[in-house]
Amino acid sequence: MSEDCIFCKIAKKEIPTEFVYEDENVVSFRDLNPQAPVHVLVIPKEHYSSIREVTDKEVFAHLMYGVQKTAEKLNLKEFRTVINTGAAAGQTVFHIHVHVLAGRDLLWPPG
Ligand code: 5GP
Ligand code: ZN
Repeated sequence: MSEDCIFCKIAKKEIPTEFVYEDENVVSFRDLNPQAPVHVLVIPKEHYSSIREVTDKEVFAHLMYGVQKTAEKLNLKEFRTVINTGAAAGQTVFHIHVHVLAGRDLLWPPG
């Protein structure tokens, strides 16, 4: 737990949030400011600021399993997963999270 980390508070249910998926290692929930019709964040319950700080490789397995189960729950067949690392890459919340986006044209690069 990192003091004042919003995603730690969500994971610990200190901020009431409806989870799309939860298991002992991760939770997922809808993004506050969705960038697509479906925009869900998958986070580990344990605090790591970003990919760079993860010290237990199992965390990556737990996160990707959380992505799979989240997609299953939402019946998503096609979706994009994104992880931003560092402010210059667009990271604004420094608790590692995987974005799951779906429901619109997500081809990359656009056009
Ligand atoms: P980042 O830019 O760090 O990759 O993504 C952070 C995401 O968290 C943003 O898409 C932002 O909308 C979302 N977000 C920030 N604060 C909250 C919050 O309190 N609740 C939820 N559900 N999403 C949040
Ligand atoms: Zn945290």
